[in-house]
Amino acid sequence: MAMAPFPPPPLLASHAAVRAAASRVAASRRIRVAGEDCHHHPPQVAALRRGDWVKLICGASFEDAADVRNLSLVYTLAGVDCIDCAADASVVSAVNEGIDVAASIVPEVQRPWVMVSVNDDCRDLHFRKAEFDPEDCPPDCSKPCDKVCPADAISLKRVMVGGEHAQSDPICDKLEGGVIMERCYGCGRCLSVCPYDRIRAMPYVRDPATTAELLKRSDVDAIEIHTTGKGIDMFNTLWNSLGESINNVKLVAVSLTL
Ligand code: SF4
Ligand code: SF4
Repeated sequence: MAMAPFPPPPLLASHAAVRAAASRVAASRRIRVAGEDCHHHPPQVAALRRGDWVKLICGASFEDAADVRNLSLVYTLAGVDCIDCAADASVVSAVNEGIDVAASIVPEVQRPWVMVSVNDDCRDLHFRKAEFDPEDCPPDCSKPCDKVCPADAISLKRVMVGGEHAQSDPICDKLEGGVIMERCYGCGRCLSVCPYDRIRAMPYVRDPATTAELLKRSDVDAIEIHTTGKGIDMFNTLWNSLGESINNVKLVAVSLTL
């Protein structure tokens, strides 16, 4: 019996919402088959022109490769036109691996375009990570940050100073762990619930040189540039840094920060 080249791991129970969302996409549009709608344009362009383009947004800052791969697998089978992901080499590889697995299950499935998201300055909220030092947290904090995080990006464990786990001694205990950076996508929910104001948002800008290298890959089809629109200097700086690499993509999208 033929084996799939990349057997997918079972989806986690926590991915039930993903399955439900993918089912809704699939129900609203039967699986796109490679070669459909392409008498004059690639199917993705035809979808844009018809106005029924569907894009999976993994998150410009979400960098958990295993989850990105699973999301890409499910949503490729659901028939999306494009998968938007962080501009990171390992994340792009995870997206393509998920697409490859989907194609091994349904060989005629349409390969979605792979889009990387970048920013030209740090004011776009898609490009930030939460950060705090658990040693600054009261050990008996009820950890609302952990409870409110939709990405399971905060992991905290109460330990006794000296190493052993303790149940209820705020003097001798401390918290260990913190934000799992590759899972934090900067949504900001944890920032407002911390009763001790311990969590900071750390904005960042994607490195244009790294992005330029990504755009040279044959498995990257599109780029989305997030910009504030409040001046063209930073946009021009990014654009010029991308140089000739921008000619390798099929689509350039510009997203204005509101
Ligand atoms: S900003 Fe906070 S709540 Fe949002 S994903 Fe990151 S750690 Fe989780
Ligand atoms: S809510 Fe604030 S103080 Fe409490 S564990 Fe989270 S970061 Fe620390």
